[in-house]
Amino acid sequence: MLAIFDLDQTLVERYTANPLPGVAKALAELVANGTRLMIATNQAGPAWRLWTGKERFPTTEQVCARFEAVAHALPELRTATWLVAAYDARVDLTSVQFGELADAFNRNAPSLNLRAAAEPIWRKPQPGMLWEACRLAGVSAAKAWFVGDMDSDAQAAQLAGIVFHSASSYFCEQATSGIIERSP
Ligand SMILES: [Mg+2]
Repeated sequence: MLAIFDLDQTLVERYTANPLPGVAKALAELVANGTRLMIATNQAGPAWRLWTGKERFPTTEQVCARFEAVAHALPELRTATWLVAAYDARVDLTSVQFGELADAFNRNAPSLNLRAAAEPIWRKPQPGMLWEACRLAGVSAAKAWFVGDMDSDAQAAQLAGIVFHSASSYFCEQATSGIIERSP
């Protein structure tokens, strides 16, 4: 089985490496059960940084340093595959520039199994990253599920033919089932 997760506001607080409640335990249980983990995250900040020059948007180095901090906080993600969408249609960069951003993502997180791409179909709500996750894991869409916090996550799952769980209910249910398991 393959569990695919959005990153921000699903596994960690937005733009931080702080895990949300219930996440660490749930990931550990999934791995213990033999479930493969992957991340599918839109990260257009560096494209906005390049286009606008504004420092409130992160560089690829800053985003990758955060990914490594997330994997430090959630050790199950050190061996997960991280799929990263560098594209954003709202940003006026050339396909060459988007490609260079994807290459920079791929260079800047050497400790992680990270694959970034600049194809528009990778950016959620498009289903490209979820298709790629299934392809890499060698499983059909029926053997995967996707957990995210936004409508664009739900839409991507629907287009990919993958079951979707909202992050709040998914981790809440995991936490509840843990409590039941521990009850006498
Ligand atoms: Mg999110």
